[in-house]
Amino acid sequence: MYVRQKKSLGQHFLHDRQIAERIAKSIDDSTKSLLEIGAGTGVLTEFLLEKNIDFKAIEIDKEFVAFLRNTFPDIKHKLIEGDFLKLNVHDIFDKPFSVIGNLPYNISSQIFFKILDEKNHIPEAVFMIQKEVAERIAEKPGSKTYGILSVLVQAFYNVEYLFTVHENAFTPPPKVKSAVIRLNRNSVQHLNCDEILFKKTVKATFNQRRKTIRNSLKLITGNRMIPENRFLQLRPETLSVSDFAELTNLVENLLKTH
Ligand code: SAM
Repeated sequence: MYVRQKKSLGQHFLHDRQIAERIAKSIDDSTKSLLEIGAGTGVLTEFLLEKNIDFKAIEIDKEFVAFLRNTFPDIKHKLIEGDFLKLNVHDIFDKPFSVIGNLPYNISSQIFFKILDEKNHIPEAVFMIQKEVAERIAEKPGSKTYGILSVLVQAFYNVEYLFTVHENAFTPPPKVKSAVIRLNRNSVQHLNCDEILFKKTVKATFNQRRKTIRNSLKLITGNRMIPENRFLQLRPETLSVSDFAELTNLVENLLKTH
């Protein structure tokens, strides 16, 4: 069965089965429910179907959905044709579940934001993504690559960079290297600040990362006089998650003034 490859859906297919098996094994042995995002040719799905767990897969491309149904008769009730970004995950699982996937790179950030929205239902994720994005998400403060996703993801997940994957492991090969990362939910239930304002503060400061925090905060605080504090002369890449929470509280107090 021939299926056309669609670049617009981030379709670069892994053909190295050893790597697929290694990715499948990176999910914790105690995992009971698992969702694969973007099953595509089923290279990873084949190993996931062997696990004795509640498994579901979602694929947006109906030609691949037909291909998967043909190739894996067992997948029948486990495969959803649809867009993960629009999926109500609670329609699929009524208990916490892990996620896995060789992600479509063009929407990987949106997928991370959705995982964060559902963080209390998703204890674990194993993703293959662009190497550069994987490094950024796993990076600690003080590095140039530390950015918005590093702070937002690390606020709620412990991140491990597992291994790098060469572009030749894919058909067609992408222009960049890839990497597999694992996210495990940490014990933080709530940050000690308003979480919507936290996200706004992180985004405002990194979107102008060459400016000092004093200057970029003006986007949120307008003309209000920002009182002296230890963050104002710094650049966002030097701040930890708890620093950002403290900064968010300063911003919140300031917003209460006129
Ligand atoms: N799992 C296969 C592999 O490892 O070779 C395919 C990976 S390919 C990088 C990404 C897959 O995600 C493609 O099959 C693509 O059609 C699918 N996809 C793209 N956008 C999607 C979306 N919004 N929801 C679900 N699947 C999507």
